[in-house]
Amino acid sequence: DLPRASRTHQPDIRVSFEFFPPKTVAMEALLWESINRLAPLGPSFVSVTYGAGGSTRERTHSTVARLAKEGVVKPAAHLTCVAAARKEIDSIVQGYWDAGVRHIVALRGDPQEGVGTKYCPHPEGYESSCALVAGIKRIADFEVSVSAYPERHPESLSLEADLDFMRAKVDAGANRAITQFFFENEIYLRYRDRLQERGVDIPIVPGIMPMQNFKQTAGFARKAGASVPQWLADRFEGLDDDPQTRRLVAATVAAEQVLNLVDHGVRDFHFYTNNRADLVYAICHLLGLRPKLEQKAA
Ligand code: FAD
Repeated sequence: DLPRASRTHQPDIRVSFEFFPPKTVAMEALLWESINRLAPLGPSFVSVTYGAGGSTRERTHSTVARLAKEGVVKPAAHLTCVAAARKEIDSIVQGYWDAGVRHIVALRGDPQEGVGTKYCPHPEGYESSCALVAGIKRIADFEVSVSAYPERHPESLSLEADLDFMRAKVDAGANRAITQFFFENEIYLRYRDRLQERGVDIPIVPGIMPMQNFKQTAGFARKAGASVPQWLADRFEGLDDDPQTRRLVAATVAAEQVLNLVDHGVRDFHFYTNNRADLVYAICHLLGLRPKLEQKAA
C-alpha cells in the first residue's frame, strides 16, 4: 500500500537544504550547480556547515555571504563555539549580520581531539551551545536554529538528559531545531512527542539523509549514534559495485521516509544534500514541490 501522501499534491510542504563549503574549484562549481538546481524549489533557507574546530571559517563565510548578496535564497550559517574565544565568535556573528545574514545554526561542535573525547570549553569561550545561542541573540535579532538528537547525542547521559538540554536551548532563545538524520520514523515521532510534553514548542525539523553511499553513511551513522536498521541494510544488499541501482534505491528509500512523515503531519524537512542536487530534487518533486518560474528564469 502506498503512503497516502504519495497520491496527493502537497502544497504546504517547506524544505531547507544543507551544503558544506567547497575546498577546490571543481567542488565549488558542483556546489553552485546544485544550489542553482534546488533554489527554484523555494526552500525556506539554505544552510552552510562550519568545518570541525572552525576549519572552514573563511569558506563558510564567503559562501553564505554570496548567497545573501545574490538574494535568491535565504542563507543560514552554521557556527560552532569549540576552540574559540567569545570575542572571536562574536566578531564572526557581527560579520554575518553586516553581510545581511539573518539566520545562524548554533552548535557546540565536536571536541578538537575528535568525536568520543571529552569536550573542554575554550577558557574564554562560550561553554555550551545554550550559551552560544544566548550570545548570538544578544548581538542581534538573528533567527537561531540548533541541533536535536532523536536517538540522543553520544555524549549525553541519557535520553532524559538530552531532552532537558534541548529545553535549555529553547529557553536560551532557539527558534528551530534540526535533527540528526534517522531512518526509523517512529524514533523521530516519539522524540517529538516527548519534547512537546516538556513544553518545547519550536519546530523540530527532521534532517533527511538521502543515502548516496550506504556503506559510508552507515559508518557515519554509527559514529553519530544514529541506528541503521537491518531492513535498510537489506535494501542495499549486493549493490556495493552498482552505483546506478544504489541511487535509485536511495531515492526510493528517502521518498518513502518523507512521505510517511507527511502522513504523520510533518510539513518541514531539512535535507543533507552532500552538495548534490539530483536525489534531493527527485524527493522534493515527490513531495509535491515544483520549480517556481521566476526563480527558474533567474
Ligand atoms: P549540544 O546540543 O550542545 O550537546 C549535545 C548533547 O550533549 C546534549 O543534548 C546534551 O545531552 C549533552 N551536553 C552538551 N553540553 C552539555 C552541558 N553543558 N550539560 C549537560 N549536557 C550537555 N558540527 C560541526 O562541526 N559543524 C557543523 O556545521 C555542524 N552542523 C550540524 C548540524 C546539525 C543539524 C547537527 C544535528 C549536527 C551538526 N554538527 C556540526 C555536529 C555537532 O557539532 C556535534 O554533534 C557536536 O558533538 C555537538 O554539538 P551540538 O551543538 O549538536 O551539541
